[in-house]
Amino acid sequence: MENKTYEPGQAYEYQLTLDKLLKAALVYNPNQEIVYRDIIRYTYKDLMRRIHKLANVLKGIGVKQGDTVAMFDYDSHRYLECFFAVPMMGAVLQTMNFRLSPEQIVYTLNHSGATTILVHSDMLPLINSIRDKLHDVCHSIVLVDDVKPLADDISITGEYEAMIRAADDRYNFPELDENAKATTFYTTGTTGLPKGVYFSHRQLVLHTFGLMAMLGAYDNIGRFQSGDVYMPLTPMFHVHAWGIPYLATLLGVKQVYPGKYEPAMLLKLIVKEKVTFSHCVPTIIQMLVTAPGIESVDLSHWKVVIGGAMLPEDLCKHALDKGIDIYSAYGMSETCPLLTAALLKPTLLSIPKDQQVAFRCKTGLPAVLVDVQVVDAHNNPVEQGITGEVVVRSPWLTKGYYKDEDKTKELWKNGWLHTGDVGFIDEYNYLKITDRIKDVIKTGGEWVSSLDLENIMSQHPAVFECAAVGVPDPRWGERPLLVIKLKDDCKNTVDDKQLHAFMLQAAKDGKIPKYGVPDKFEFVDTIPKTSVGKIDKKEIRKKYSQPVVATI
Ligand code: AMP
Repeated sequence: MENKTYEPGQAYEYQLTLDKLLKAALVYNPNQEIVYRDIIRYTYKDLMRRIHKLANVLKGIGVKQGDTVAMFDYDSHRYLECFFAVPMMGAVLQTMNFRLSPEQIVYTLNHSGATTILVHSDMLPLINSIRDKLHDVCHSIVLVDDVKPLADDISITGEYEAMIRAADDRYNFPELDENAKATTFYTTGTTGLPKGVYFSHRQLVLHTFGLMAMLGAYDNIGRFQSGDVYMPLTPMFHVHAWGIPYLATLLGVKQVYPGKYEPAMLLKLIVKEKVTFSHCVPTIIQMLVTAPGIESVDLSHWKVVIGGAMLPEDLCKHALDKGIDIYSAYGMSETCPLLTAALLKPTLLSIPKDQQVAFRCKTGLPAVLVDVQVVDAHNNPVEQGITGEVVVRSPWLTKGYYKDEDKTKELWKNGWLHTGDVGFIDEYNYLKITDRIKDVIKTGGEWVSSLDLENIMSQHPAVFECAAVGVPDPRWGERPLLVIKLKDDCKNTVDDKQLHAFMLQAAKDGKIPKYGVPDKFEFVDTIPKTSVGKIDKKEIRKKYSQPVVATI
């Protein structure tokens, strides 16, 4: 660090910057390992050296304070190095969702003004196809996993590993203001252009401490502590893999980065590296617990936090039966993301696992330093149990959308960040999200929660996956439609009448209102997913944009 000079009597102004997160592990467990697939393993001491080397590499090609460096990679040790090196130089790390359309990628790189990109060789063809549309990019560094020589590509500045090898391992990192921008990425809404969110060093540091308290400090389920072995199953481009790599590094835990998500590789790493803690969206855990060969894999030491979408109770039960300590958490791109986690209150810890399911699937209790309120259409707080929009406050929420004042004004109103989610606080003080505002099914003037319908339908033994959307209806405005993917061995054993009867029973049991029982069921082979693996309701709605004839 460059040294600032201080007058006698002038206290040191300790800045909450990301470099501070690296110190503890180097004292506590410097020889702990960081692993990338079955390709690379090195220690925290090596990580530190490589962070310095990477900063020298970037400086060598002209990256300076305030510049934006964009990263296109799978979850890797290189990503972790960038998580630190780029912001520590005073530059901004832009994490790129490589599954966006080429037009969206062009837009986001031009909008952020990224000058340098780091690109996995798998994604080079994509970059080459848009290169002449990128306004500010001067340098690209290619990231390769194997020793295959790269075809000569004059647009590439160099290869990451070779450049790291050649670089000096001491970099004089500047002492930064904690409010300096550290990271940015873009979220895609249902309409319009992608929107850029951004986070400062201070926000990321406080978020790391918030996570540490929420995931580690309580005597509770699914703890994440220094003895764990961590493997993310959420892309590092998506809200910094929920910020957990920063916490893992602070704690000095063994970290395992899986690269491209391939079920066989993921299972191999879980077993071989003895992974104990991961996080993902429901579709990934669904894929893993139904993967071929899973029966012989012992998952009883694995803790998994599910976020990004509702954790259906049936999936939770299935995972618990496999021995996985699973529970839900809630957040969004705009919130860094931590907002709530479904910790069990002390009195619930001793109840049988099957009775814990309903609590583990709730949206959760607010994390430390997070204020949650539910408000009505006039922004007035509503009573406990009443449904409204969820609004939040915390030190780590994005201050706005980059260069987009109008959208920022929609996001921040009355000093609260408006999540666009509908929910209520239940009698146990847990938040329960019932829908995105735009996904609520409005039938005959009443609201039906699409998440409730999905949660119930997925409890039917023949259902593998399902999605509920509102479709136009001449009489009721909208009616719920359930799009269903059946389990492979149930394809000819169940029909829409049986599924309807199942939902009707749920209404009789008081779980959903009678007008919420769908009379339209569509059987499909695949349910469309977004670029981060969530069910893509926008796509489904598009497909059923015309009135659908009731099937019942
Ligand atoms: P994203 O910004 O893509 O991460 O999406 C955030 C949105 O995912 C939230 O606004 C919620 O609508 C949804 N979401 C995240 N976590 C949960 C959860 N535990 N339960 C229900 N919805 C969730």
